Amino acid sequence: MDQREEALAGMAGTRLDLLVIGGGITGAGVAREAALRGLRVGLVERNDFAAGTSSRSTKLVHGGLRYLKSGDFRLVREAVLERQRLIQMAPHLVRSAAFLFPVYRGDPDPLWKLRIGLTLYDWFAGRHRVPRHQVHAPAGVLAQEPLLQPAGLTGGAIYTDAVTDDARLTLAVLASARQAGALVANYTEVTGFTHGQPPRRQVTAVCLRDHLGDASLTVGCRTVLNATGPWLDALRRLEDPGAVPVLRPTKGVHVAVPGHRLPLRQAVVLRSTDRRLMFAIPSGDYTYIGTTDTDYDGDLGEPPVDAADVDYILAAVNRSFPDCRLTVPDVVSVWAGLRPLLDPGDGRRPAEVSRDYRLFRSPGGLVSVGGGKLTTFRAMAVQIVDELLPESRGRVPAVAAVAPLPGAARPTPAEVAAAAASAGVPQELAVELAGRHGSDFIQVLAELRPGDLDAPRRTVCLRLQTRYAVRHELARRLADVLVRRTPEFLFSADNGRDLAAAVAADMAELLGWGPERTQAELAAYLDQVGQMQAWRRPDSGSPP
Ligand code: FAD
Repeated sequence: MDQREEALAGMAGTRLDLLVIGGGITGAGVAREAALRGLRVGLVERNDFAAGTSSRSTKLVHGGLRYLKSGDFRLVREAVLERQRLIQMAPHLVRSAAFLFPVYRGDPDPLWKLRIGLTLYDWFAGRHRVPRHQVHAPAGVLAQEPLLQPAGLTGGAIYTDAVTDDARLTLAVLASARQAGALVANYTEVTGFTHGQPPRRQVTAVCLRDHLGDASLTVGCRTVLNATGPWLDALRRLEDPGAVPVLRPTKGVHVAVPGHRLPLRQAVVLRSTDRRLMFAIPSGDYTYIGTTDTDYDGDLGEPPVDAADVDYILAAVNRSFPDCRLTVPDVVSVWAGLRPLLDPGDGRRPAEVSRDYRLFRSPGGLVSVGGGKLTTFRAMAVQIVDELLPESRGRVPAVAAVAPLPGAARPTPAEVAAAAASAGVPQELAVELAGRHGSDFIQVLAELRPGDLDAPRRTVCLRLQTRYAVRHELARRLADVLVRRTPEFLFSADNGRDLAAAVAADMAELLGWGPERTQAELAAYLDQVGQMQAWRRPDSGSPP
């Protein structure tokens, strides 16, 4: 039995205190918090972990400067404090980064307003030592980012926030949950609920479909949390067909271009042609830009990117960086995510809908969490477990709740060099792996096999991570490795197609795939890349 099958068998063989539905950041955070409190916890995800919104965000761990404008001070303060906690808990995954916010004549927020907002932002960070924001005259702004449009520039400010790898952060939180005893399985869908006797008819068990084992099982549980993000209402209706929808999903698109086509020294805040705020964020050899924010009522699984979404983003970049002249052929990858926002019930613009979260309890006792942010997952998890299982309140010592995530003990350069020497690998390879996996890079390096080093560095790096991902991170399909556990799909020139066969061969060996399954995995991956690039077809393009 592999770890995933063991987790499912464990769930079937016990009555859980809590079953979490959904392996995005919200579900992962709750499973971790509950497991740390010593509760019997299971988490099931019908696709791969983070396959929903939690791998499709702007990848910021941030207070959300723009929410100050709508007076969401509590939310912003909480998010700023969580940002600082996460930098400590996962320094290999959540990194402080400088952001430049240029201001132009006629912008909705003049420099003096930005200065007030950033003063508050810094103040919210409290005792945490964060570099204070700096306000610059136009010449200072251009010295920082020489490619910015100089015409109309009235000044700008540099402030600190943080960037992350959203999918890997989710995986690290799940790894921490598993270490604390949570039973966790991907490719396991909730297909129904069992209710107890009237009059209360409370949910007593959940019906699961194991898509890899092609089996069904029923798991008894005291409480169930629906943390399915954009699928929230679908799950609520599965349990209570009369449930009134509470979500108003909005779609957000990003595009990535090679870094040399938009060379930035730091992340930059941009304004779209309709004056919405967007970000351009350098990430390794690439720069990504986003996001759009439009109401969405299509298929929740793979929200499509339209040519018009891409044009809108490129127009915003070219407005701010006119000399870059980005065009469609510069775009390497795109991604679209759905924000599981709560419907305020009025006609306000998508960007004005609050990012706060709320719990909904059905008559059968199913608790559903709607809204929220990647940044605040930990604080949300504490509040949710307090609410769901109040007797467990205070059971986890405060230090454990903010204890480092796996891999967090960042290795020193000397340790990395020593590990590279002892494994006999080039130092740059060890540096790259340590950058992504923190102190766990030693276990990744341990996957090295004779003959591996004959291949180019990128291939070696990917193959080591593939084997590690299968053995330690429950990667079970080709896309699990290429899309969410490594940057290949989004941040490589060929979207990982050139190395897909090598990865599939390693997975086949470790997971016992025959030639047919291996070919099917390859075909599915190439199809996914094709879908991601479908916006280039001439028939794609409704306005965002
Ligand atoms: P999801 O990640 O969608 O997870 C829900 C999971 O439930 C899915 O994986 C799905 O497969 C699973 N599921 C569905 N049905 C079932 C079933 N029947 N059985 C089992 N599993 C099921 N926040 C930030 O803090 N910073 C940002 O920079 C940021 N940028 C964003 C940009 C965009 C474009 C978007 C869309 C959001 C952004 N957010 C950001 C918000 C943040 O990404 C989301 O709040 C967060 O990822 C939601 O996580 P979740 O776990 O609630 O949902």
